[in-house]
Amino acid sequence: METQLVVLGGGPGGYAAAFLAADMGLEVTLVEADPRLGGTCLLKGCIPSKALLHVARVISESHEVDDWGVKFERPGIDVNTLRARKDKVISTLSGGLQQLAKKRKVTVINARATFENSQTLKLEGGDPATYAESRLTFEHCILASGSLPAMPGAFKLGTDRVMDSTGALELKDIPESLLVIGGGYIGLEMGTVYAALGTKVSVVELTPTLLPLCDRDLVRPLEARLNKLFTGIYLETKVTSLTDKGDSIEVGFQDAKGPRSERFSRVLVSVGRRPNSTGLGLENTQVELDEKGFVVTDECQRTADPHILAIGDVAGEPMLAHKASHQGKVAVEALLGEPAVFQPQAIPAVVFTDPEIAWAGLTEEQAKAERIEVEVTRYPWAASGRAVALGRTEGFTKLLIDPDSQRILGIGIVGINAGDILTEAVVAIEMGATARDLAESIHPHPTLSETLGFAAEAFLGTATEIYRPRAAHKA
Ligand code: FAD
Repeated sequence: METQLVVLGGGPGGYAAAFLAADMGLEVTLVEADPRLGGTCLLKGCIPSKALLHVARVISESHEVDDWGVKFERPGIDVNTLRARKDKVISTLSGGLQQLAKKRKVTVINARATFENSQTLKLEGGDPATYAESRLTFEHCILASGSLPAMPGAFKLGTDRVMDSTGALELKDIPESLLVIGGGYIGLEMGTVYAALGTKVSVVELTPTLLPLCDRDLVRPLEARLNKLFTGIYLETKVTSLTDKGDSIEVGFQDAKGPRSERFSRVLVSVGRRPNSTGLGLENTQVELDEKGFVVTDECQRTADPHILAIGDVAGEPMLAHKASHQGKVAVEALLGEPAVFQPQAIPAVVFTDPEIAWAGLTEEQAKAERIEVEVTRYPWAASGRAVALGRTEGFTKLLIDPDSQRILGIGIVGINAGDILTEAVVAIEMGATARDLAESIHPHPTLSETLGFAAEAFLGTATEIYRPRAAHKA
């Protein structure tokens, strides 16, 4: 079998690339080991986690309206129906992708592929009815094999009481207690889900803070809420052992006070993800890997092998679905000889906890580390009519502004729905907008998105709802 372009991996990077390539007139084959399209994001990542977080949010809002004199009974949870509904979300979207592939005449092969050389893939397993021969030769390949959860050897006990994110999303039951190992975004999102469903959730993190990659001030309002939602948050604490006790897992901890142990019904190991670059036969090509196992690419997503491009999680940080799709489009345009490069000013990131944390562009930690001079303005949501009406004033919107040009360099938001209002910030940074541009764009009232305009006004000293006198240099 022969194809002009093969895309290896049917995740958000792979299917975005395959669909655009077909739209642009290329003859495309998409090879995916899973019988369903969608990759980590749709099958065991972004989408199922957000479906469950939606339910968690409804449950927590039903408690919050107590303060408004509205009382709901404690919710009864039918875990089988909940799981089935989450699975329906996945199958609806995955079925949609299959339909779209068919309409675009993208050949979809369900098989595990490995490189025999720079222009041949060996196909095995999956559904042999989707491929006539076990070898596929190609002119170009876009590698989009994604990433896998990291599971340290010492945590592999061979029991499903110790789960990775995929296991946690399966929602086998609502355990009495759950320990989340790792205070990154995946662990906190899943912890939020299980806590809302009634599990006693604890989190253990090696570093002194949750979400170590985030600006500290953005994390504080979340930490305050998680302190109430979770049973325990153990910072600067190491997990030294996991022991299967049959009906529970005994976890050994080590912190400044010394060693101790505690039992949990289940443990979620969420200590990061690694690029899926081994076992693909890449040694039979000229593709190069860096010391962490990411495929090395140039700005057009080309690897060291002239026939192979790489995109998404396998091609480097940040491991995010929207970065993968964007790179997929750049790779196709580059193949077609268009002047496309992956050179974003801002890759947005959202932690879908409650409150959410969202940021784009330069962060304050990065500005400090790289000695970039910025002026930081924070707009407190306590001054936002919408936030007060929602009873959620703990958030704030902050802008990092270049003091000379007054251009917006970075934005951070913490508060409910922060992720949904971040997009304006991404456009502002990409377009080189100044604080005045943001302040003078009329924002709809009353919305949380207004806080972006208000923060820019606060920088200029012209915000209506807070008193912050105007500095002479900004006149
Ligand atoms: P993947 O989506 O990993 O797809 C790779 C595909 O390649 C897989 O389907 C795999 O089966 C296939 N494959 C691999 N090897 C082979 C082979 N040899 N032969 C054939 N097929 C192969 N990102 C966000 O942006 N927002 C979020 O809210 C978010 N939430 C997440 C929550 C969780 C719990 C997890 C685990 C991840 C989350 N992510 C989120 C990250 C996101 O899922 C990834 O960044 C994204 O899926 C990467 O896309 P990709 O196309 O590079 O790879």
